Amino acid sequence: MDLSDTHRPTAQPTLSPMRRNTFALILKLMALIRKSISNADRPGYLYDFREMRGEFKLGRSGNLAKRIRDWERDCHNAHQLWYDSVYCLHVHRAESIAHLLLEIFCVDRPMHLCPTCGRRHREKFRLWGTDLVIRRRILRIMHIAGSLSQ
Ligand SMILES: [Zn+2]
Repeated sequence: MDLSDTHRPTAQPTLSPMRRNTFALILKLMALIRKSISNADRPGYLYDFREMRGEFKLGRSGNLAKRIRDWERDCHNAHQLWYDSVYCLHVHRAESIAHLLLEIFCVDRPMHLCPTCGRRHREKFRLWGTDLVIRRRILRIMHIAGSLSQ
Protein backbone atom coordinates (compact mmCIF):
# COMPACT_ATOMS: atom_id res chain seq x y z
CA MET A 1 0.00 0.00 0.00
CA ASP A 2 1.32 3.43 -0.96
CA LEU A 3 1.11 5.80 1.99
CA SER A 4 2.89 8.70 0.36
CA ASP A 5 1.15 12.03 0.14
CA THR A 6 2.64 12.91 -3.24
CA HIS A 7 -0.55 12.40 -5.27
CA ARG A 8 -3.00 13.87 -2.78
CA PRO A 9 -3.98 17.50 -3.00
CA THR A 10 -2.93 19.53 0.00
CA ALA A 11 -5.85 19.97 2.36
CA GLN A 12 -5.98 23.78 2.35
CA PRO A 13 -3.62 25.12 -0.28
CA THR A 14 -4.70 28.77 -0.19
CA LEU A 15 -4.48 29.37 3.55
CA SER A 16 -2.27 32.13 4.86
CA PRO A 17 0.73 31.22 7.02
CA MET A 18 -0.73 33.44 9.77
CA ARG A 19 -3.44 30.86 10.27
CA ARG A 20 -2.25 28.05 12.51
CA ASN A 21 -2.55 24.36 11.69
CA THR A 22 -6.12 22.98 11.97
CA PHE A 23 -5.14 19.90 13.97
CA ALA A 24 -3.18 21.99 16.49
CA LEU A 25 -6.16 24.38 16.77
CA ILE A 26 -8.58 21.51 17.44
CA LEU A 27 -6.29 20.14 20.17
CA LYS A 28 -6.09 23.60 21.75
CA LEU A 29 -9.89 23.89 21.58
CA MET A 30 -10.42 20.48 23.22
CA ALA A 31 -7.96 21.34 26.00
CA LEU A 32 -9.70 24.66 26.61
CA ILE A 33 -13.17 23.07 26.75
CA ARG A 34 -11.92 20.48 29.28
CA LYS A 35 -10.48 23.16 31.56
CA SER A 36 -12.66 24.39 34.41
CA ILE A 37 -13.87 27.97 34.23
CA SER A 38 -11.67 30.48 36.06
CA ASN A 39 -13.12 32.18 39.13
CA ALA A 40 -11.81 35.44 37.69
CA ASP A 41 -13.97 35.11 34.57
CA ARG A 42 -16.89 37.54 34.34
CA PRO A 43 -20.10 38.04 32.34
CA GLY A 44 -19.91 40.18 29.25
CA TYR A 45 -20.56 40.41 25.54
CA LEU A 46 -18.91 38.92 22.53
CA TYR A 47 -19.16 41.34 19.62
CA ASP A 48 -18.11 41.40 16.01
CA PHE A 49 -17.68 43.96 13.31
CA ARG A 50 -16.54 44.02 9.72
CA GLU A 51 -13.95 46.35 8.28
CA MET A 52 -12.84 47.22 4.80
CA ARG A 53 -11.05 44.44 2.92
CA GLY A 54 -13.59 42.02 4.40
CA GLU A 55 -11.82 41.48 7.68
CA PHE A 56 -13.90 40.55 10.70
CA LYS A 57 -12.97 41.35 14.27
CA LEU A 58 -14.39 39.42 17.22
CA GLY A 59 -13.85 40.81 20.69
CA ARG A 60 -15.32 40.91 24.16
CA SER A 61 -16.39 43.57 26.62
CA GLY A 62 -18.24 43.92 29.89
CA ASN A 63 -19.61 47.23 28.65
CA LEU A 64 -20.52 47.05 24.99
CA ALA A 65 -21.60 50.70 24.56
CA LYS A 66 -18.27 51.86 26.02
CA ARG A 67 -16.32 49.46 23.81
CA ILE A 68 -18.03 50.79 20.69
CA ARG A 69 -17.17 54.37 21.78
CA ASP A 70 -13.56 53.30 22.44
CA TRP A 71 -13.26 51.85 18.94
CA GLU A 72 -14.78 54.96 17.41
CA ARG A 73 -12.34 57.18 19.32
CA ASP A 74 -9.18 55.08 18.88
CA CYS A 75 -9.68 53.66 15.39
CA HIS A 76 -12.41 55.66 13.70
CA ASN A 77 -13.26 54.02 10.42
CA ALA A 78 -16.34 54.85 8.35
CA HIS A 79 -16.22 51.35 6.83
CA GLN A 80 -16.58 49.63 10.19
CA LEU A 81 -19.93 47.81 10.38
CA TRP A 82 -20.95 46.55 13.78
CA TYR A 83 -22.94 43.35 13.68
CA ASP A 84 -24.11 41.07 16.44
CA SER A 85 -23.34 40.68 20.10
CA VAL A 86 -23.98 37.74 22.41
CA TYR A 87 -24.17 37.87 26.21
CA CYS A 88 -21.99 35.24 27.89
CA LEU A 89 -21.69 34.25 31.55
CA HIS A 90 -17.91 33.76 31.28
CA VAL A 91 -16.81 36.00 28.47
CA HIS A 92 -13.01 35.47 28.68
CA ARG A 93 -13.43 31.78 28.08
CA ALA A 94 -16.12 32.35 25.46
CA GLU A 95 -13.83 34.70 23.55
CA SER A 96 -10.94 32.22 23.60
CA ILE A 97 -13.19 29.45 22.28
CA ALA A 98 -14.70 31.75 19.62
CA HIS A 99 -11.24 32.84 18.42
CA LEU A 100 -10.08 29.23 18.05
CA LEU A 101 -13.27 28.29 16.18
CA LEU A 102 -12.93 31.31 13.90
CA GLU A 103 -9.32 30.49 13.15
CA ILE A 104 -10.29 26.91 12.28
CA PHE A 105 -12.80 28.22 9.73
CA CYS A 106 -10.90 31.25 8.45
CA VAL A 107 -8.89 31.82 5.28
CA ASP A 108 -6.54 34.29 6.87
CA ARG A 109 -5.68 35.83 10.20
CA PRO A 110 -4.18 39.13 9.09
CA MET A 111 -1.84 40.87 11.51
CA HIS A 112 -0.77 43.88 9.45
CA LEU A 113 -0.62 47.41 10.82
CA CYS A 114 -4.03 49.08 10.78
CA PRO A 115 -4.20 51.73 8.00
CA THR A 116 -6.57 53.79 10.19
CA CYS A 117 -4.76 53.98 13.54
CA GLY A 118 -1.35 52.43 12.84
CA ARG A 119 -1.68 49.77 15.55
CA ARG A 120 -1.65 46.02 15.06
CA HIS A 121 -5.11 44.74 16.04
CA ARG A 122 -5.05 41.11 17.02
CA GLU A 123 -7.68 38.49 16.28
CA LYS A 124 -8.97 39.65 12.95
CA PHE A 125 -10.14 37.03 10.51
CA ARG A 126 -10.95 36.73 6.84
CA LEU A 127 -13.52 34.05 5.99
CA TRP A 128 -15.09 32.40 2.96
CA GLY A 129 -18.55 33.44 1.81
CA THR A 130 -20.76 36.47 1.40
CA ASP A 131 -21.05 38.98 4.22
CA LEU A 132 -24.42 37.54 5.23
CA VAL A 133 -23.11 33.97 5.33
CA ILE A 134 -20.05 35.03 7.32
CA ARG A 135 -22.11 37.10 9.72
CA ARG A 136 -24.43 34.14 10.41
CA ARG A 137 -21.45 31.83 10.85
CA ILE A 138 -19.80 34.19 13.35
CA LEU A 139 -23.07 34.57 15.25
CA ARG A 140 -23.38 30.79 15.46
CA ILE A 141 -19.77 30.55 16.68
CA MET A 142 -20.46 33.19 19.36
CA HIS A 143 -23.52 31.24 20.58
CA ILE A 144 -21.55 27.96 20.68
CA ALA A 145 -18.69 29.66 22.54
CA GLY A 146 -21.19 31.15 25.01
CA SER A 147 -22.91 27.82 25.64
CA LEU A 148 -19.51 26.15 26.25
CA SER A 149 -18.76 28.83 28.86
CA GLN A 150 -21.63 28.48 31.34
ZN1 LIG B 1 -6.99 50.54 13.87
